[in-house]
Amino acid sequence: MNSDADNFWANVCRRLRRVLGRDIPSIEEAEAELNAAKDLPLAPNQVDEIVASVQDSLTADVWDEGGVAEDAALSAPELCDWSALVLNRNPGAPEEFAEERIQEVRWEALAGSKKGIERSRFDWLLQQQSQEKAAEAAEELVQSIGIDTVPIDPFAIARDEFPLLCIDCRDFNDRFDGQLQYEMRSGQFVLLLNNKYDAFWTQQGHHPRTRFSLAHELGHYFLEGHRDYLKNGGVPHASQAEYRRDSLVEREADAFAAALLMPSMLIAPMVNEAELSRNRLEKIANYFQTSLTSTAIRSVLISDFPCALIGIADGGVRWSFHSKPLIQAGCYPKGKSDHLLKRVRSHWEMMLSQDGTEHVQQGILMEWFETYDRSHLINVPVCEHYMPVRTMNLLIILITLDERDVFDVDADDFEETDDD
Ligand SMILES: [Zn+2]
Repeated sequence: MNSDADNFWANVCRRLRRVLGRDIPSIEEAEAELNAAKDLPLAPNQVDEIVASVQDSLTADVWDEGGVAEDAALSAPELCDWSALVLNRNPGAPEEFAEERIQEVRWEALAGSKKGIERSRFDWLLQQQSQEKAAEAAEELVQSIGIDTVPIDPFAIARDEFPLLCIDCRDFNDRFDGQLQYEMRSGQFVLLLNNKYDAFWTQQGHHPRTRFSLAHELGHYFLEGHRDYLKNGGVPHASQAEYRRDSLVEREADAFAAALLMPSMLIAPMVNEAELSRNRLEKIANYFQTSLTSTAIRSVLISDFPCALIGIADGGVRWSFHSKPLIQAGCYPKGKSDHLLKRVRSHWEMMLSQDGTEHVQQGILMEWFETYDRSHLINVPVCEHYMPVRTMNLLIILITLDERDVFDVDADDFEETDDD
């Protein structure tokens, strides 16, 4: 006995002997006893006893002793293995449990977070619902005013709210795009609007970003929770409109602004004439006098075709929006990432060096989306439409794909497809 392992066990035996106060056989003694033992089979009841004692000790450790929490019954690696096991079940026979787990993984992906499943599903639902509700409020407002022509004038909507709402529109430099505050003494809302972008606008009216910022602040004014917050003494915040802030209230105000300037009844017929492309998005943006970014996001969200919009900023993927048909086809977001594909990085670098141009390139589905159980989709070709937005140091990529590529196969699996 000279190996490290033997020395280690000899040491353990000595210590155990001290702690337990009983004589523990040394390794040599145990080995000698084992060698000397007669080779007798165990009686059936002895086997049962051993099995029962092992089972008892396992359940006791996990469930009964020391009040171990239910969550602790499986460690994190075990949970991962279990999930993988369920997801990688034998293909063929449907399994309720596995289907549920796949659904949960999808929700996790949609929430773009590694937090607990229930938590992220709840967050994602909450965010989706609150943004949809904000957009609905804007659409209702447009209908109640009876607006049916474009471009929609948010200044006229704001003026109609006078004297409860006053606008202070000037160049506020880089302080903010807009800010809404409540004056307790006069009982008035004051909307500070930065018009610095108008200096670069050669057409009639205001720059699309000024219009969006005003519509965003109108969101804070018209949306119930936002308005009450300010009236109850809440601190006004400096808004950076156009999807540059992650917080729920900012996303709600952005959703309100997009729906106010591009109400679905006016934009949906145009968007769904055909698959989206940079040219078509520019036409729509021109028509509604909205920025390319907000038009692209709004168009993707209401598109009847499978498509997505990816936002690249600071050298990484920062946000993404997906059309409903894309989600129904089983293609899910990959979430934020600092890792860019080589060709995407070169587009990003070209944009920074000011010589990037719009460009269409081919990719494959797995480079942009998670497909989980629909792994046969991973090599489906996708079109990447690169659209640099230099004023915002942003590269947006419209991803389009042929719906026949994703819906023809296994269409029966997806109850919500239009084909059904
Ligand atoms: Zn805001």
